[in-house]
Amino acid sequence: MRQHLRRIIQSLSALLLNGYWYFPVSRTIYQGRLKSICSPGLNCHSCPAATTACPLGAIQNFMAGIRASVEAARYHFGFYVLGWLGIIGGLVGRMPCGWICPFGLIQDLLFKMPGRKIRIPYIFSYGPYIFLALTIFILPIWVVDAFGYGFLWFCKFICPAGTLEAGLPLLILQPTLRMTVGHLFYIKVAVLFFFITGSVLASRPFCRTVCPLGAFYSFFNRASLFQLKYHPEKCTHCELCYRDCPVDIKFYESPNDRRCIRCLVCLRESCAFGAISWEMGGLEGQSSRPKVQSLKAKG
Ligand code: SF4
Ligand code: SF4
Repeated sequence: MRQHLRRIIQSLSALLLNGYWYFPVSRTIYQGRLKSICSPGLNCHSCPAATTACPLGAIQNFMAGIRASVEAARYHFGFYVLGWLGIIGGLVGRMPCGWICPFGLIQDLLFKMPGRKIRIPYIFSYGPYIFLALTIFILPIWVVDAFGYGFLWFCKFICPAGTLEAGLPLLILQPTLRMTVGHLFYIKVAVLFFFITGSVLASRPFCRTVCPLGAFYSFFNRASLFQLKYHPEKCTHCELCYRDCPVDIKFYESPNDRRCIRCLVCLRESCAFGAISWEMGGLEGQSSRPKVQSLKAKG
Protein backbone atom coordinates (compact mmCIF):
# COMPACT_ATOMS: atom_id res chain seq x y z
CA MET A 1 0.00 0.00 0.00
CA ARG A 2 2.75 2.45 1.00
CA GLN A 3 4.79 1.70 -2.11
CA HIS A 4 1.58 2.51 -4.01
CA LEU A 5 1.75 6.11 -2.78
CA ARG A 6 5.18 6.52 -4.38
CA ARG A 7 3.98 4.93 -7.61
CA ILE A 8 1.00 7.30 -7.70
CA ILE A 9 3.23 10.36 -7.16
CA GLN A 10 5.75 9.13 -9.73
CA SER A 11 2.94 8.55 -12.25
CA LEU A 12 1.32 11.93 -11.60
CA SER A 13 4.69 13.66 -12.01
CA ALA A 14 5.30 11.85 -15.28
CA LEU A 15 1.86 12.91 -16.54
CA LEU A 16 2.24 16.53 -15.44
CA LEU A 17 5.75 16.87 -16.87
CA ASN A 18 4.41 15.41 -20.10
CA GLY A 19 1.01 17.06 -20.13
CA TYR A 20 0.96 18.51 -23.65
CA TRP A 21 -1.44 15.98 -25.12
CA TYR A 22 -2.21 18.12 -28.16
CA PHE A 23 0.97 16.92 -29.83
CA PRO A 24 -0.64 14.18 -32.00
CA VAL A 25 -2.55 17.02 -33.70
CA SER A 26 0.14 19.72 -33.70
CA ARG A 27 2.88 17.16 -34.53
CA THR A 28 5.42 19.38 -32.83
CA ILE A 29 6.75 20.04 -29.34
CA TYR A 30 5.16 22.36 -26.78
CA GLN A 31 6.89 25.76 -26.71
CA GLY A 32 4.74 27.68 -24.26
CA ARG A 33 5.69 29.55 -21.10
CA LEU A 34 6.10 26.49 -18.90
CA LYS A 35 9.13 25.52 -20.99
CA SER A 36 11.08 28.22 -19.14
CA ILE A 37 10.80 26.06 -15.99
CA CYS A 38 13.14 23.13 -15.47
CA SER A 39 11.77 19.77 -14.44
CA PRO A 40 13.26 18.49 -11.14
CA GLY A 41 13.80 15.09 -12.81
CA LEU A 42 15.21 13.87 -16.11
CA ASN A 43 12.58 14.57 -18.76
CA CYS A 44 13.58 15.45 -22.31
CA HIS A 45 12.84 19.02 -23.41
CA SER A 46 12.13 17.77 -26.93
CA CYS A 47 9.61 15.13 -25.95
CA PRO A 48 6.46 16.10 -27.90
CA ALA A 49 4.41 15.97 -24.71
CA ALA A 50 6.94 17.69 -22.40
CA THR A 51 5.66 20.80 -20.63
CA THR A 52 8.97 21.76 -18.97
CA ALA A 53 12.65 21.93 -19.87
CA CYS A 54 15.27 19.33 -18.96
CA PRO A 55 17.72 20.59 -16.29
CA LEU A 56 20.65 18.73 -17.85
CA GLY A 57 19.95 20.24 -21.26
CA ALA A 58 19.66 23.68 -19.68
CA ILE A 59 22.99 23.38 -17.84
CA GLN A 60 24.74 22.16 -21.00
CA ASN A 61 23.25 25.06 -22.95
CA PHE A 62 24.52 27.44 -20.30
CA MET A 63 28.03 25.94 -20.36
CA ALA A 64 28.10 25.72 -24.16
CA GLY A 65 27.39 29.44 -24.47
CA ILE A 66 29.91 30.73 -21.93
CA ARG A 67 32.89 31.10 -24.31
CA ALA A 68 30.84 32.84 -26.98
CA SER A 69 29.48 35.20 -24.32
CA VAL A 70 32.92 36.02 -23.00
CA GLU A 71 34.30 36.58 -26.51
CA ALA A 72 31.40 38.94 -27.18
CA ALA A 73 32.06 40.69 -23.85
CA ARG A 74 28.67 39.63 -22.45
CA TYR A 75 29.28 38.85 -18.82
CA HIS A 76 25.70 38.38 -17.60
CA PHE A 77 25.44 34.67 -16.97
CA GLY A 78 22.19 33.03 -15.97
CA PHE A 79 22.78 30.76 -13.01
CA TYR A 80 19.05 30.09 -12.70
CA VAL A 81 19.21 26.36 -13.42
CA LEU A 82 22.08 25.65 -11.03
CA GLY A 83 20.32 27.74 -8.37
CA TRP A 84 17.01 25.92 -8.90
CA LEU A 85 18.63 22.49 -8.66
CA GLY A 86 20.65 23.68 -5.67
CA ILE A 87 17.46 24.73 -3.84
CA ILE A 88 15.84 21.35 -4.51
CA GLY A 89 18.99 19.51 -3.46
CA GLY A 90 19.34 21.68 -0.36
CA LEU A 91 15.79 20.85 0.68
CA VAL A 92 15.50 17.14 -0.05
CA GLY A 93 18.73 15.86 -1.67
CA ARG A 94 18.08 13.11 -4.22
CA MET A 95 14.39 12.75 -3.41
CA PRO A 96 13.31 13.81 -6.96
CA CYS A 97 15.11 10.68 -8.23
CA GLY A 98 12.90 8.45 -6.12
CA TRP A 99 9.58 10.29 -6.38
CA ILE A 100 9.46 12.53 -9.47
CA CYS A 101 11.84 11.49 -12.25
CA PRO A 102 9.87 9.88 -15.14
CA PHE A 103 12.90 7.92 -16.32
CA GLY A 104 13.30 6.58 -12.78
CA LEU A 105 9.70 5.39 -12.88
CA ILE A 106 10.28 3.58 -16.19
CA GLN A 107 13.27 1.75 -14.71
CA ASP A 108 11.32 0.87 -11.53
CA LEU A 109 8.49 -0.64 -13.59
CA LEU A 110 10.86 -2.61 -15.80
CA PHE A 111 12.60 -4.04 -12.74
CA LYS A 112 9.25 -5.41 -11.58
CA MET A 113 9.28 -7.84 -14.49
CA PRO A 114 9.95 -11.39 -13.32
CA GLY A 115 13.26 -13.07 -14.00
CA ARG A 116 16.83 -13.29 -12.77
CA LYS A 117 18.10 -10.18 -10.97
CA ILE A 118 21.67 -8.99 -10.48
CA ARG A 119 23.36 -6.41 -8.24
CA ILE A 120 25.43 -3.61 -9.78
CA PRO A 121 29.02 -3.53 -8.39
CA TYR A 122 29.75 -0.53 -6.16
CA ILE A 123 32.55 0.74 -8.41
CA PHE A 124 30.00 1.80 -11.05
CA SER A 125 28.47 4.29 -8.59
CA TYR A 126 31.32 6.66 -9.49
CA GLY A 127 30.22 6.68 -13.15
CA PRO A 128 27.62 9.48 -12.76
CA TYR A 129 30.29 11.87 -11.43
CA ILE A 130 32.46 11.24 -14.48
CA PHE A 131 29.51 11.90 -16.82
CA LEU A 132 28.54 15.00 -14.82
CA ALA A 133 32.04 16.47 -14.97
CA LEU A 134 32.81 15.57 -18.58
CA THR A 135 29.55 15.77 -20.54
CA ILE A 136 27.73 18.50 -18.59
CA PHE A 137 30.49 20.89 -17.56
CA ILE A 138 33.91 20.32 -19.16
CA LEU A 139 33.29 19.28 -22.79
CA PRO A 140 30.48 21.79 -23.55
CA ILE A 141 32.76 24.66 -22.56
CA TRP A 142 35.99 23.17 -23.91
CA VAL A 143 35.10 21.94 -27.41
CA VAL A 144 33.50 24.75 -29.40
CA ASP A 145 32.62 25.52 -33.00
CA ALA A 146 33.89 28.40 -35.13
CA PHE A 147 31.49 30.77 -33.40
CA GLY A 148 32.61 29.80 -29.90
CA TYR A 149 29.58 27.66 -29.07
CA GLY A 150 29.96 24.25 -27.48
CA PHE A 151 27.89 21.10 -27.93
CA LEU A 152 25.34 19.37 -25.74
CA TRP A 153 27.41 16.24 -25.30
CA PHE A 154 25.13 14.33 -22.98
CA CYS A 155 21.97 15.02 -24.97
CA LYS A 156 23.65 14.42 -28.30
CA PHE A 157 25.63 11.26 -27.61
CA ILE A 158 24.17 9.49 -24.57
CA CYS A 159 20.79 10.38 -23.07
CA PRO A 160 18.51 7.33 -23.40
CA ALA A 161 15.58 9.35 -21.98
CA GLY A 162 15.93 11.72 -24.92
CA THR A 163 15.92 8.86 -27.42
CA LEU A 164 12.87 7.27 -25.82
CA GLU A 165 10.85 10.41 -25.13
CA ALA A 166 11.88 12.60 -28.07
CA GLY A 167 13.94 10.90 -30.80
CA LEU A 168 11.65 7.95 -31.49
CA PRO A 169 8.29 9.78 -31.06
CA LEU A 170 9.40 12.64 -33.31
CA LEU A 171 10.41 10.19 -36.04
CA ILE A 172 6.87 8.79 -35.89
CA LEU A 173 5.21 12.22 -35.84
CA GLN A 174 7.38 13.82 -38.52
CA PRO A 175 8.21 11.31 -41.30
CA THR A 176 10.50 13.81 -43.05
CA LEU A 177 12.89 13.57 -40.11
CA ARG A 178 13.59 9.94 -40.97
CA MET A 179 15.80 11.05 -43.85
CA THR A 180 18.13 12.74 -41.35
CA VAL A 181 18.72 9.59 -39.30
CA GLY A 182 22.39 8.58 -39.24
CA HIS A 183 24.84 6.38 -37.35
CA LEU A 184 24.64 8.53 -34.24
CA PHE A 185 20.94 7.86 -33.85
CA TYR A 186 21.47 4.10 -34.11
CA ILE A 187 24.15 4.32 -31.42
CA LYS A 188 21.70 6.16 -29.20
CA VAL A 189 19.02 3.54 -29.84
CA ALA A 190 21.58 0.90 -28.80
CA VAL A 191 22.26 2.85 -25.59
CA LEU A 192 18.53 3.00 -24.91
CA PHE A 193 18.14 -0.73 -25.59
CA PHE A 194 21.04 -1.45 -23.22
CA PHE A 195 19.39 0.43 -20.36
CA ILE A 196 15.90 -0.90 -21.07
CA THR A 197 17.08 -4.50 -20.95
CA GLY A 198 19.45 -3.66 -18.09
CA SER A 199 16.52 -2.31 -16.07
CA VAL A 200 14.82 -5.69 -16.20
CA LEU A 201 17.95 -7.33 -14.79
CA ALA A 202 19.14 -4.71 -12.30
CA SER A 203 17.48 -1.96 -10.30
CA ARG A 204 17.90 1.55 -11.75
CA PRO A 205 21.02 0.88 -13.86
CA PHE A 206 20.96 4.28 -15.58
CA CYS A 207 20.57 6.24 -12.31
CA ARG A 208 23.37 4.30 -10.68
CA THR A 209 25.97 4.23 -13.43
CA VAL A 210 25.37 7.29 -15.64
CA CYS A 211 22.83 9.91 -14.55
CA PRO A 212 24.57 13.29 -14.04
CA LEU A 213 21.43 14.79 -12.49
CA GLY A 214 21.44 12.22 -9.70
CA ALA A 215 25.16 12.88 -9.24
CA PHE A 216 24.45 16.61 -8.83
CA TYR A 217 21.70 16.04 -6.24
CA SER A 218 23.83 13.47 -4.41
CA PHE A 219 26.22 16.17 -3.19
CA PHE A 220 23.35 17.45 -1.01
CA ASN A 221 22.25 14.14 0.54
CA ARG A 222 24.20 14.56 3.77
CA ALA A 223 23.54 18.30 4.09
CA SER A 224 19.92 18.73 2.95
CA LEU A 225 17.17 19.83 5.33
CA PHE A 226 15.50 16.45 4.89
CA GLN A 227 17.54 13.75 6.61
CA LEU A 228 17.03 10.10 7.42
CA LYS A 229 18.08 9.27 10.97
CA TYR A 230 19.55 6.01 12.18
CA HIS A 231 18.90 4.73 15.69
CA PRO A 232 21.61 2.11 16.30
CA GLU A 233 20.21 1.12 19.70
CA LYS A 234 17.12 -0.29 17.94
CA CYS A 235 18.86 -1.88 14.95
CA THR A 236 19.11 -5.68 14.90
CA HIS A 237 21.14 -5.79 11.66
CA CYS A 238 18.41 -7.91 10.12
CA GLU A 239 19.39 -6.49 6.69
CA LEU A 240 15.79 -6.09 5.52
CA CYS A 241 16.62 -2.48 4.55
CA TYR A 242 19.50 -3.74 2.39
CA ARG A 243 17.33 -6.42 0.82
CA ASP A 244 14.64 -3.93 -0.20
CA CYS A 245 16.80 -0.91 -1.12
CA PRO A 246 16.63 -0.22 -4.88
CA VAL A 247 20.22 1.03 -4.89
CA ASP A 248 21.73 -1.61 -2.59
CA ILE A 249 22.51 0.54 0.44
CA LYS A 250 23.00 -0.98 3.88
CA PHE A 251 21.21 1.78 5.74
CA TYR A 252 22.76 0.85 9.09
CA GLU A 253 26.24 1.39 7.60
CA SER A 254 25.58 4.53 5.61
CA PRO A 255 22.45 6.62 6.35
CA ASN A 256 21.96 9.37 3.76
CA ASP A 257 24.50 7.73 1.48
CA ARG A 258 25.23 9.71 -1.71
CA ARG A 259 23.51 6.90 -3.68
CA CYS A 260 20.26 7.12 -1.67
CA ILE A 261 17.34 8.21 -3.85
CA ARG A 262 15.14 8.85 -0.77
CA CYS A 263 12.49 6.38 -1.90
CA LEU A 264 11.83 5.79 1.84
CA VAL A 265 11.22 2.08 1.30
CA CYS A 266 13.56 1.27 4.19
CA LEU A 267 11.72 3.66 6.50
CA ARG A 268 8.15 2.95 5.45
CA GLU A 269 8.30 -0.75 4.62
CA SER A 270 11.47 -2.59 5.54
CA CYS A 271 12.58 -1.73 9.03
CA ALA A 272 10.42 -3.50 11.59
CA PHE A 273 12.38 -2.27 14.60
CA GLY A 274 11.97 1.50 14.58
CA ALA A 275 15.64 2.03 13.74
CA ILE A 276 14.96 4.59 10.97
CA SER A 277 13.21 7.94 11.16
CA TRP A 278 13.24 11.18 9.22
CA GLU A 279 13.56 14.83 10.11
CA MET A 280 13.17 18.09 8.24
CA GLY A 281 15.28 21.02 9.37
CA GLY A 282 15.68 19.45 12.80
CA LEU A 283 11.95 18.74 13.23
CA GLU A 284 11.38 15.05 13.79
CA GLY A 285 8.99 13.14 11.55
CA GLN A 286 7.75 9.60 11.36
CA SER A 287 9.96 6.67 12.35
CA SER A 288 9.78 3.11 11.14
CA ARG A 289 7.61 1.24 13.61
CA PRO A 290 7.83 -2.27 14.95
CA LYS A 291 5.81 -4.42 12.57
CA VAL A 292 5.81 -7.95 13.86
CA GLN A 293 3.31 -9.06 11.24
CA SER A 294 5.30 -7.69 8.34
CA LEU A 295 8.50 -9.19 9.73
CA LYS A 296 6.85 -12.58 9.95
CA ALA A 297 5.55 -12.20 6.44
CA LYS A 298 9.03 -11.43 5.16
CA GLY A 299 10.39 -14.50 6.93
S1 SF4 B 1 15.87 -2.96 8.58
FE1 SF4 B 1 16.09 -1.66 10.43
S2 SF4 B 1 16.72 -3.11 12.04
FE2 SF4 B 1 17.07 -4.16 10.06
S3 SF4 B 1 19.23 -3.69 9.57
FE3 SF4 B 1 17.97 -2.11 8.56
S4 SF4 B 1 17.93 -0.39 10.02
FE4 SF4 B 1 18.60 -2.21 11.18
S1 SF4 C 1 18.56 3.82 1.81
FE1 SF4 C 1 16.30 3.74 2.09
S2 SF4 C 1 15.52 5.69 1.25
FE2 SF4 C 1 17.63 5.40 0.48
S3 SF4 C 1 17.36 4.42 -1.52
FE3 SF4 C 1 17.68 2.77 -0.01
S4 SF4 C 1 15.60 2.15 0.64
FE4 SF4 C 1 15.41 4.15 -0.42
